[in-house]
Amino acid sequence: MKIDILEMTQTRAQFVITDTNPAFANALRRTIVSDIPKMAIDNVEFHLGPIMDEKGTAFESVSPLFDEVVAHRLSLVPVPTDLDAFNFRAKCSCNGEGCPSCTVMYSLNKKGPCTVYSGDLEPIGDAKLRIKDDLIPIVKLAEDQALLVYATAELGTGKQHAKWQAALGAGYRYFAKIHIDQAKCDIGGSCVKVCPKGVLAKEDKKIVVKHPEKCNLCNACVEVCDAGVIKVSGDPTKILFRFETDGSLTAKQVLMRGLKNLEERFEGLREQISTLEE
Ligand code: SF4
Ligand SMILES: [Zn+2]
Repeated sequence: MKIDILEMTQTRAQFVITDTNPAFANALRRTIVSDIPKMAIDNVEFHLGPIMDEKGTAFESVSPLFDEVVAHRLSLVPVPTDLDAFNFRAKCSCNGEGCPSCTVMYSLNKKGPCTVYSGDLEPIGDAKLRIKDDLIPIVKLAEDQALLVYATAELGTGKQHAKWQAALGAGYRYFAKIHIDQAKCDIGGSCVKVCPKGVLAKEDKKIVVKHPEKCNLCNACVEVCDAGVIKVSGDPTKILFRFETDGSLTAKQVLMRGLKNLEERFEGLREQISTLEE
């Protein structure tokens, strides 16, 4: 099996897996969607009662949204995650009490009128944990309204809740096998025009497959070709895989962790089977 990276940015990955099969691609998809740990806000404490500013003006600690809705919106904010630095809270040496190795605390203190954004969450401690995607709107506060909360983030996985899902839109499809019978092709170019992905091109008086990785197997080129010289099929041993992340982890971190998970699982399975054989 071989992986060729087509695109790898901070939050997007697209690659081709060759000498593989759909079962493996689906196992990778499932593990990156549900098993990669990431930090997310799991507990939010709301200050009740009046909130004073520096000049002594009193604000009411209310917002137009229910506290539960504000807490839910905060929980979906991508929290920067260092997988080498954090433990799962339940497995931490603090016995789940909460410590810097398993939790990150944020405070949020805003007074209306204003819009509260994800970037208003201030990490208590390490400034590296400041929210990178800082313009996610949380709630709009009116005149005299204020919000003072303490939020605690901890590690979890997508299997527990979508707020702990690092990879989004993970999916794959077969790589296209496109065959053009050049001997019979009349070079009319109707296939080039009809292709919605710009896969085909007319070059040196023949039709060539320029970007096979973009083909979505729609068969429009096959249908438009009166001469019937184009054949398009999916190759189940060559799979185009893509996903994005919410920004709490990089796409590379998610992919590496997903592959490591699979390796460990298959190794565990192999060991169990070998004990059966004995
Ligand atoms: S199958 Fe669709 S996307 Fe692929 S080359 Fe033909 S027209 Fe383009
Ligand atoms: Zn701890």
